[in-house]
Amino acid sequence: MPDPDVVIVGAGAAGLSLAYHLCAPGAAVPLSVVLVDAPPGPLRPPPRTWCYWEPPGGTYESALAASWPRLRVRAADGTATVADPSPYRYKMLRSDAFEALVGRRLSGAASFRRIEATVTAVRDAPNGGEVLAQDGRVLVRGRRVFDSRPLRRLPPARTTLLQHFMGWFVRTERPSFDPTTADLMDFRTPQPARGLSFGYVLPLDPQTALVEYTEFSPAPLDTEGYRRALRHYTQEVLKLGEFQVTAQERGVIPMTDGHFPRRAGRSVHRIGTAGGATRPSTGYTFAAVQRQSRSVADRLRAGRGLRMPAPYGVRPRAMDAVMLRALDSGRVDGSDFFTRLFSGVPGERLLRFLDGGSHFHEDLLIGLRTPVAPMLRTVVELPFLTRREPPPPPPTGHEKSTP
Ligand SMILES: Cc1cc2nc3c(=O)[nH]c(=O)nc-3n(C[C@H](O)[C@H](O)[C@H](O)COP(=O)(O)OP(=O)(O)OC[C@H]3O[C@@H](n4cnc5c(N)ncnc54)[C@H](O)[C@@H]3O)c2cc1C
Repeated sequence: MPDPDVVIVGAGAAGLSLAYHLCAPGAAVPLSVVLVDAPPGPLRPPPRTWCYWEPPGGTYESALAASWPRLRVRAADGTATVADPSPYRYKMLRSDAFEALVGRRLSGAASFRRIEATVTAVRDAPNGGEVLAQDGRVLVRGRRVFDSRPLRRLPPARTTLLQHFMGWFVRTERPSFDPTTADLMDFRTPQPARGLSFGYVLPLDPQTALVEYTEFSPAPLDTEGYRRALRHYTQEVLKLGEFQVTAQERGVIPMTDGHFPRRAGRSVHRIGTAGGATRPSTGYTFAAVQRQSRSVADRLRAGRGLRMPAPYGVRPRAMDAVMLRALDSGRVDGSDFFTRLFSGVPGERLLRFLDGGSHFHEDLLIGLRTPVAPMLRTVVELPFLTRREPPPPPPTGHEKSTP
């Protein structure tokens, strides 16, 4: 059998999205695609929830669990800012529904093949790239290989924080949620010594919601630490009364100004979080993965040479580096910083900014909504800071999704 055009390693958000776009119907000459994913076990992440924003009618609309027309941020004193970010809606996609939707397309694609194996290395080969299994044998070769396996270590950086969180899907006894509004950041949580914390509430109906406790800080909590924070938030802050926890999710997402190379060889490319698709200032990744997958698939399907687009431009990355440093150094107060941004910038513009799609003059206006003096001090300081190796990350960042 000839080598496939494309080999993808990892069937998470990035691997599946790329396979989905590469195998779209309608190509004159379909590309042959092989997807390699780890067998069930510790390398495979448990079911997760991905949120992102776009106008109604997007690619995965039929698989969404929910979407919201309004977003709310609450200051530490409870003051609420509600934004209508139209034309965007905030959307929630469960990973199992996404896998099923992508699976339906892939099962109908004649030139698609799936392999279940633990990959230990991916490297250049004479006519493309090759993927190696645990016993050292070559599993598959392809003209191009896209690797989404998580990196063993985060890159050297001036600032490395983690966005770490645990969430409960709750069912309350009485109506407690407004299903038209997602609470992006609720700062009525006790703040950690370094970084910030907030509650995140995604209502599915008046009695059901995903309620999360999130920190941007140097290290994850232990399970009891998250449980304590969630008990406090659900009972003392939200005052939910009696509720049942039907599922749980937990994660750790890097927030770093380190550089993630997108190329790991002549024909080997990194995608997803491993390829720098996670926005350093927010942890959002899914939308950048979609933009990149669509662009790569369009070029390859049109028979054009591959140009891997950077997930974010130079300006958004520079602004994120300043924000991360200002936050980590304690120069700006995190809850005040985000509350000011949400109350001072129109919702649509802010979401476009967070996707890296705003114009220079809009970025300047947004910059003026931040505490200008400490941010400018940080701008001056950054070029003199050295990039250091961060401490080893927690092993997987995932935990089974049972309560
Ligand atoms: C709980 C959680 C919630 C999140 N929520 C959001 C959100 O709401 N919005 C957002 O934008 N981002 C979110 N993120 C961040 C980001 O979108 C996700 O982490 C996303 O899954 C990253 O996609 P990925 O393809 O890079 O990695 P993953 O989805 O983790 O996929 C990696 C794949 O590689 C495979 N793999 C690993 N090792 C091997 C190996 N040795 N051999 C073969 N296969 C291997 C795994 O089985 C997996 O399929 C969240 C992250 C977590 C952990």
